[in-house]
Parts: sequence; C-alpha cells; structure tokens
Amino acid sequence: MRLFVALSPPPEVLAEVAGAVGACPERWPDLRWVAGETWHITMAFLGEVPERALPELRTRLARAAGRHAPMTLRFEGAGAFPSARRARVVWLGLAGGGTAISRLAASLAAGAARAGAVDADRKPFHPHLTLARARPRDGLDARPLVEELKDFGGTPWRAETVHLMRSHLGPRTRYEALGSWPLGGGG
Ligand code: ATP
Ligand code: MG
Repeated sequence: MRLFVALSPPPEVLAEVAGAVGACPERWPDLRWVAGETWHITMAFLGEVPERALPELRTRLARAAGRHAPMTLRFEGAGAFPSARRARVVWLGLAGGGTAISRLAASLAAGAARAGAVDADRKPFHPHLTLARARPRDGLDARPLVEELKDFGGTPWRAETVHLMRSHLGPRTRYEALGSWPLGGGG
C-alpha cells in the first residue's frame, strides 16, 4: 500500500486558504488542482509499504510523534517546484516550524525506516501545502500565479497530531487515514 505521514491543518485555516486560492483554478485550468478536502502537509512520504509492516510502523510513528512537542505553524508565501518558471507543483509555504518541524519529519522517516518502510525516492524536506500540479511532466510557467499567491499569510494554528495516510491513486486520488498519534512533550 502507498503510504505517507501528514499533518492536517484545521478546517478554519483551510477555509482561509480556499479564500486565497479563490478563482485561480478556473484561470489556470492547465493545472491539476488538489481538492480542498484532501489538502494536507506531507511530513514523510513512505511510498509502497507491505501490509505486514503496518503494526510495527504504527508503533514507530507513535513513538516518534511522542518525542516532539506540538508546534505553532502558519501558511505564508507561495512557490513552485522545481521553479515558478517550470512549475510541476505549486504550493503555499508553511512557516513557524523552525528546525522543529524538520526534526519531526526526520524522526518520522527514521521510525518508518526502522519498520521497513523505506522511501527510495526521498526528497529534501520542505514543508508546504500542495495546491496544484502541472499535467505535463516538463512543467508550466506559473510565475503569475505564484506572484498572486505569494503575499498570503494565514492565521497561526497548532499542529498537535500526525496522521498515517494511505493513497488510493486514480483519476481522483483519494486518501484514507490509517492512524493518528499526538505530538508529545518534546525532549
Ligand atoms: P497524485 O500522485 O495522484 O497526483 P498525490 O501526489 O497527492 O496524488 P501520492 O503520490 O500518493 O498522492 O503522494 C502523497 C503525498 O506525498 C502528496 O502530498 C505528495 O506530494 C507527497 N509525495 C509524493 N511523492 C513524494 C516524494 N517522492 N517525496 C516527497 N513527497 C512525496
Ligand atoms: Mg503523487
């Protein structure tokens, strides 16, 4: 099964994001816009994981989450991977996590790896909310879109829980939550 670990911003924060995105999808129909109901922040992408690794994976993720304190985050700015000029992914930035969010991500990935869930295609961690993807593999010039979204600043929110998610890829990719664990006291 195809798995990843994510944070879920609260609905009122996602409502603000929806407000900022506004009518962009109609104006950028060449992008594949992510449905608002599925917006999330990927903390660790695990890729294909055998079902038998699940019990150990749950244990490891629970333990990793418990070792990190909740944090206050906010959406801020926008950008694109690999660049706005040849965008394949258009995103909103996530600020406020400092190094703590990267440490949490590394800890979740390490826990998953110990459970046998190793992602061969690991990318450097850059916390973001994916808004849209380019259909062609070679990307699209999204500079005006990024320019339009880059001044966005959202209300701070508290990240207190990590979720293990399963992807069901398809014409409309669907996610299924397999488990959730609270962040702990840190230290
Ligand atoms: P689709 O692939 O149909 O566009 P999706 O990308 O949302 O949908 P997945 O490919 O299963 O579904 O990815 C789940 C999450 O993990 C998404 O947030 C995606 O951006 C992220 N992700 C996918 N591949 C990687 C990777 N190699 N490294 C880091 N994050 C990834
Ligand atoms: Mg994908």
